[in-house]
Amino acid sequence: MRIITGLQPSGKLHVGNYFGAMEPAVRMQESGESFYFLADYHAMSTVHDANALRENCSNLATDFLAVGLDPEKCVFFRQSAVPEVNELAWILSTVCPMGLLERCHSYKDKIAKGFSPSNALFTYPVLMAADILMYDSDLVPVGKDQKQHLEVTRDLAGKMNEQFGEGTCKLPDALIAESTAIVPGLDGQKMSKSYNNTLPIFGEEKAVRKLIMRIPTDSTPVEDPKPTEGSVILQLYKLFASAQGYEDMVRGFQNGGCGYGDFKKRLFDAYWEYFRPARERRAELEANQDYVRRTLEEGARKARETASVVLDRVRRAVGLA
Ligand code: ATP
Ligand code: MG
Repeated sequence: MRIITGLQPSGKLHVGNYFGAMEPAVRMQESGESFYFLADYHAMSTVHDANALRENCSNLATDFLAVGLDPEKCVFFRQSAVPEVNELAWILSTVCPMGLLERCHSYKDKIAKGFSPSNALFTYPVLMAADILMYDSDLVPVGKDQKQHLEVTRDLAGKMNEQFGEGTCKLPDALIAESTAIVPGLDGQKMSKSYNNTLPIFGEEKAVRKLIMRIPTDSTPVEDPKPTEGSVILQLYKLFASAQGYEDMVRGFQNGGCGYGDFKKRLFDAYWEYFRPARERRAELEANQDYVRRTLEEGARKARETASVVLDRVRRAVGLA
């Protein structure tokens, strides 16, 4: 079984990325052949600064290794190290109806957030389909925001098979864990690098404490019970706490007598402990960037090997070879 997932080097990794994609990816790296990549071509649709892109890439590679990616067990690479993916994206675009892309809400969301409506942003799902189909992937662990893009991928694979023969592309399945499908940001919207509402995985202690203390809350007096429904504090706490710890916090909300400041402190402590081992690993990797670079190079070599087999098959099917 082949598993694939990618993360954009479009900013600092956050808790939503972790629970939506990275944690399942790390957990599954032994369940089959795993391909994990830094989606730098995708990031270019919103990052237009060469130094920022380079820096984001090395940070993201370090982060991903720090949370437990093991290059002995998976293929870890930069998307742009396998430029063949662009050719597959082009081929897929020839069977992709405009309407399919026009319906994608992530494009509309980004435009609504002020990004300029570029062709890259619009055709993003086609390149994403190529990322997945390039490796004959079976499973794609992602957050719920990617569900529609996975449907586009399946649609395009189906169209390729209809047009050019069964077996031209392999249909993948999304793997979306219900409990972490949409991690809320500090403002209650979906946590997103581009929405400026994130809780970073590797934030600086003081800065993260400040972020958490600033989570907007209502004006329920300290002694009164607090609403649990839709509480960002509770939803985030649940990710880091044991079942018992979470129950205790819910009871604390319901009983009253405790202010939001106390709950926020508990949230910070749980967060800080949760990522402690990864933080320590990250510090070691930070001092060993040569290892990170070599890992990506070796990953690219392996990824390219697999990609060339698939691309060769597709090229033959469509009449390019
Ligand atoms: P951008 O705002 O630039 O799109 P992002 O924060 O949405 O960035 P991506 O790199 O687009 O992050 O997504 C990487 C992975 O993380 C995807 O699988 C996506 O589904 C998942 N993910 C992102 N945000 C969340 C979230 N809030 N909850 C769960 N999963 C998420
Ligand atoms: Mg996104």
